[in-house]
Amino acid sequence: RAKALGRNNYRHFTVNLSNDGYDRLEWITRLRNALANGEFMLHYQPKIEVLSGRVTGAEALLRWRTADGQMISPAEFIPLAEEIGLIVPIGEWVLNEACRTNRAWQAAGYRPIPVSVNISAIQLERDDLVHKVTQALNETGLTARFLELEITESALMSDVNQSIATLNRLRELGVQIAIDDFGTGYSSLGHLKRFAVNTLKIDQSFIRNITTDRGNAGIVQAVISLAHTLGLTVVAEGVETPDEYRHLSARGCDLIQGYYTGRPVTADQLVTQLRPVR
Ligand code: C2E
Ligand code: MG
Ligand code: MG
Ligand code: MG
Repeated sequence: RAKALGRNNYRHFTVNLSNDGYDRLEWITRLRNALANGEFMLHYQPKIEVLSGRVTGAEALLRWRTADGQMISPAEFIPLAEEIGLIVPIGEWVLNEACRTNRAWQAAGYRPIPVSVNISAIQLERDDLVHKVTQALNETGLTARFLELEITESALMSDVNQSIATLNRLRELGVQIAIDDFGTGYSSLGHLKRFAVNTLKIDQSFIRNITTDRGNAGIVQAVISLAHTLGLTVVAEGVETPDEYRHLSARGCDLIQGYYTGRPVTADQLVTQLRPVR
């Protein structure tokens, strides 16, 4: 049952793949056609630097608008896309589109920021990932440091040695790496030290009730300290209230991402939040 999400800044319906009247094969066909039909788009959510209050990054988030006007959440279709391997061409489209858009912002004279792209576990385990990233940078002309890849902690942990090797090659290219959903993936501190990453993103489940839940507050404080000890930037995701923002900023969190500081918006809306440099 599609339900209206009144809190979003555009009106749409979200669809639950498992109970929307289409069967699995129909969903697979629709998903296969979506790329060719141009039904995907990216929204961008700002990341705010606490010290300056400025937008210092933006995460590209995939959106699927079907021909009949339904919006389908990535949480719904990415698992299916991963299962049938379609995440590989979709992920390649996302990489190119995000790099192209960021390059266009820079060409239009806006203050440069890195754009962050989510990389699926399936993409990470393929040996052409580094090649695909190199291609996206070359074809769009985006400088490597203006691309950040977000890889979940659990994806990194599925084959630690391969992850270490891939991260090293990506870092040699000059792209930045963030560990997404940090705190949910069981990585040991020993592994963390060996992953060549720049940033930890604290999973939003730890941000909920941070001002009242001692457990979450303690975990978040520990992750901030850990990140800083390792020389990493730390981002809190899913920050929804001014109280959460104040709590995190008082404890030294570097960057904030969440509905409180900015919802995911179109590329055109995002760029208005970056002041031109010339
Ligand atoms: P994620 O990478 O951890 O992204 C954060 C999710 O939290 C996004 O959901 C974002 O819209 C949402 N969010 C941001 N601020 C808040 C907040 O204050 N409160 C709440 N409740 N939620 C907030 P979204 O866009 O639905 O994406 C869900 C997940 O789908 C992402 O989690 C990511 O794992 C995946 N995803 C999205 N785009 C892509 C993509 O291009 N490729 C791949 N492989 N995965 C993607
Ligand atoms: Mg992410
Ligand atoms: Mg996350
Ligand atoms: Mg997530």
